[in-house]
Amino acid sequence: MTKATNITWHANLTHEERATLRKQKGVTVWLTGLSASGKSTIACALEQTLLARGLNSYRLDGDNIRFGLNKDLGFSEADRNENIRRISEVAKLFSDSCCVTLTSFISPYKADRQFARELHEKENLPFVEVYVDVPIEVAEQRDPKGLYKKAREGLIKEFTGISAPYEAPDKPEIHLKNHAGVSIEDAAQQIVDYLVEKGYIN
Ligand code: ADP
Repeated sequence: MTKATNITWHANLTHEERATLRKQKGVTVWLTGLSASGKSTIACALEQTLLARGLNSYRLDGDNIRFGLNKDLGFSEADRNENIRRISEVAKLFSDSCCVTLTSFISPYKADRQFARELHEKENLPFVEVYVDVPIEVAEQRDPKGLYKKAREGLIKEFTGISAPYEAPDKPEIHLKNHAGVSIEDAAQQIVDYLVEKGYIN
């Protein structure tokens, strides 16, 4: 692939100018965790809550993005890196447009999440890493798509937690234990409380 050369960055409004006009700041809430830990369910609940509060919010979902933007990518380490690189860039654009951007991707590698964080922080866009934490036994028991079963049978290669690593965050902004009596509403509310406390949303 030849890289474009004759391109020039066209200056936009600053994020502050846009946020003042939109009366809303942008922030990316990055959910990471094992498959079936509850990322998509929590992100959906959160999106509904935020929209109901009159805020602009949008969810970028792991599987959904692979139907379109990332349909050329698989699950090798290189493809997972590229998957996250593209999502990070898209999330940054959504946040820059003053959206509360929710991403629900396993994003198992620390380096990829660090890349996403730096991309945002370079532009002074807040990045909130949420570790949706459940023991693998709980995720495997939920297994709504039967993926763990297939992975155990060897039918899915490179499955996170079984045959591919999950690198848990060391210092996530929010460590969400999403099991043992924690409801989806509780989990979403913890994130809302954090966003309010930090002044990212009103
Ligand atoms: P992920 O996006 O991380 O793969 P999902 O959001 O699809 O996970 O959730 C996997 C399953 O776990 C779903 O059936 C969902 O209803 C269930 N689930 C999620 N959070 C909870 C919770 N706090 N308590 C019980 N079940 C949950």
